[in-house]
Amino acid sequence: MAWMDLKDHTIEVVIGPYEVYEDALFNYKAAFECFLTLVDPEETQKLKQFASYLNDMEKNLPIPDEYKNFERGSESPIMVVQEVFGAGDTKAGVQTLAFNLPNDERVRKAKGSKKVMLKNLHEAKYEKLLKPIAEIVLDKEQLKYVTFDGFFTHTLMHEMSHGIGPGFIKVDGRETEVKKELKETYSKIEECKADILGMFNNMCMIKNGVLPKEFENEMWVTFLAGTFRSVRFGISEAHGGGNAIIYNYLLENGAYEFNKETQKVKVNFDKIYSILTDLANKVLMIQAKGDYQGSLDLIAKYGIESETMKILVDKLSSLPVDIKPEFEIEK
Ligand SMILES: [Zn+2]
Repeated sequence: MAWMDLKDHTIEVVIGPYEVYEDALFNYKAAFECFLTLVDPEETQKLKQFASYLNDMEKNLPIPDEYKNFERGSESPIMVVQEVFGAGDTKAGVQTLAFNLPNDERVRKAKGSKKVMLKNLHEAKYEKLLKPIAEIVLDKEQLKYVTFDGFFTHTLMHEMSHGIGPGFIKVDGRETEVKKELKETYSKIEECKADILGMFNNMCMIKNGVLPKEFENEMWVTFLAGTFRSVRFGISEAHGGGNAIIYNYLLENGAYEFNKETQKVKVNFDKIYSILTDLANKVLMIQAKGDYQGSLDLIAKYGIESETMKILVDKLSSLPVDIKPEFEIEK
C-alpha cells in the first residue's frame, strides 16, 4: 500500500516474494526478488506529457466516434527508472524490461498497480540485440534511422496505448468487455493494437509538436527492425504474434518492401502512415465489435511466419537471444 503511495521519490525499490513464474507446478509459490532502481526524471516527464494528450489520442483514432472510449478510469501510473542492482528471481531467464506490481489483488483493488520501466536494460538490449539485428535485416540506406530513442519512445507509447481504444463494449445490446468476447485471441490482438497505436499515437505527438518531425522516419524504421527481435521469441506468443500481423499486413500492402536480391527489408515512407491507419481501423473495429471470428481470421491470415520473415529470421541464428547484466555494485 505504501509503495503505491510513493510520490516524487528518487529511489524505486522492490524487495520480496512476488512473481510465481518459477513455480511450474501450480504458479502459486512466489520467489524472492530485488530491484534497486533510480527514477529517471526526464523520461518520466515525457510520459506525463504524453498522458496529458490521452483524450486527444482517443479522439484521433481512425474509427467512428460512437466506438471511442472516453470513460476510462484512472490508469495505472508508469515510471521510468535506471536499474542499479537486481537479485534473486530477477536474474532467472529472460531479462525483464519492465515490471508491473503489486500482484496482490487486495492492494490492486485499493490502489491499482504501478508499471516500472527499466531504461538501462532497454539500452543494453538495444545495443546488443536490436542494432546487430538491424544490420542484418535492414536495407543499408535506412540503417541511419535506427535509434535508441526510436526504440524507447515506441515502448513508452506502446504502454500508454494499452489504455486507449475500446474496453467495455456493447454487443447486440449486451454489456460486455473486449477481453471476454475475443477470448484466447485477446492478448495477441491487444499487443498488436498497442504496437500499432504506439506508432500511430507518436504521429499524433509529432503533429502536436510534442515530438520533432525528424522522429518520424526513426520510429518507422526502428520498429521494423524491432519486429525481428520480438518474433524470435515465437509468433505463438502474444508480442511476437502481434508483430507478425503488422509485418505481413504492411508488406502485403507495400508499406514494407523486401528486396529479393539483397534479402533486406525497408520502409516505404510514402505509404506507411496510410496503410498503418487501415490496419489500426481493422484491429480497433474487431475490438469495438467484440468480433471473435474477425480476430481469428486476422490472426490466421497475417499472424504467421511468412516466407520473407522466415528468410530474415534464419539469418539471425548467430546472434544471442538475450543479455545477462552485471551491475557496478556487484564488482
Ligand atoms: Zn503490451
